Amino acid sequence: MSANTICTESCLSREFLALGTLNSLRLYGAQPGVAGQAEALVLGLDARLSAFRPGSEIAQINRSAGHRPVAVSEETFGLLKRAKAFSSFSGGAFDISVRPLVELWGIGHKADFVPRTWRVRRTLRLVSFHDLILDETCHTAFLRRTGQAVDLGGIAKGYAADKVRRLLTEAGVQSAMINLGGNLIALGTRPDGEPWRVGVQNPCSTRGEWLGLLALTDKTVVTSGSNERFFIKDGVRYHHILDPRTGSPARSGLLSVTVIGVSSEEADALSTAAFVLGLEQGAALIMERGAEAVFAAEDGRLYLTAGLRDIFQWNHRSGHSSGRLQ
Ligand code: AMP
Ligand code: MG
Repeated sequence: MSANTICTESCLSREFLALGTLNSLRLYGAQPGVAGQAEALVLGLDARLSAFRPGSEIAQINRSAGHRPVAVSEETFGLLKRAKAFSSFSGGAFDISVRPLVELWGIGHKADFVPRTWRVRRTLRLVSFHDLILDETCHTAFLRRTGQAVDLGGIAKGYAADKVRRLLTEAGVQSAMINLGGNLIALGTRPDGEPWRVGVQNPCSTRGEWLGLLALTDKTVVTSGSNERFFIKDGVRYHHILDPRTGSPARSGLLSVTVIGVSSEEADALSTAAFVLGLEQGAALIMERGAEAVFAAEDGRLYLTAGLRDIFQWNHRSGHSSGRLQ
């Protein structure tokens, strides 16, 4: 499905489904056809990278786990390599091989399903990014053990957003808002020369309320939150970001992490990892990469990294109070 609408004389807006989510583009001063090219680019990436599509390169790697290496495109190889490197950098909080757990829990697919502890433990043994063997000379990917599987769900939207930005920039577009299922890139400034205003969603609100607004030029904004895909059973919130140390939805005291940076791929991986790690370690990881973040914690406080103080406008009605990062 895609829809193409003109929003003003110089603005083209387009919506389409891909990467398991709704995506939207708002382009200013773009040549006709550019939005269609961007959509085709994202659909192509979906076909190559989705673990759900039997024909995708990722599905082939997963099917061949424990049996044989699979030759993949340079693009998929590069992304897997960076995802593995990031898995290591995050100390395994982000783990590219988390898929067996994602399938076991089936958050968003299986209705209110909580697996037995022994099954979680058994599945957890399959999760280890060290077992993804990438051969530089043959460009193959291989998972050592049967049942292992990779999952790019925590990084692919960011990667795709970066690619859309490159396509738009090469096509001469200087002002655009790219939104791939909540992975945002604010390209350039608004057409009037002002910074873009990007809302950080309140994870406690069902009505799409903001925690605050960020004034941004040429930046990406990526959120990982326990309110994106979840169910509540016996008072416990089970959500889609899994802790590779426990095998269960991460319980790090956070409701959401919003990362602001330059590379959307990196911000995507960072937000997932920081959510698992929690406030202090998550903030350290994000700052080590030169990015910034807004953390919404379960204690009702909002924590900002130092670089955001002047560009984040609080919504004081959100019910959050200000916290202090150590
Ligand atoms: P995000 O919304 O970017 O934080 O990504 C969440 C998605 O990434 C999930 O739906 C899973 O497909 C995958 N995922 C969940 N937990 C992890 C993890 N610890 N490391 C890497 N990917 C994960
Ligand atoms: Mg992510």
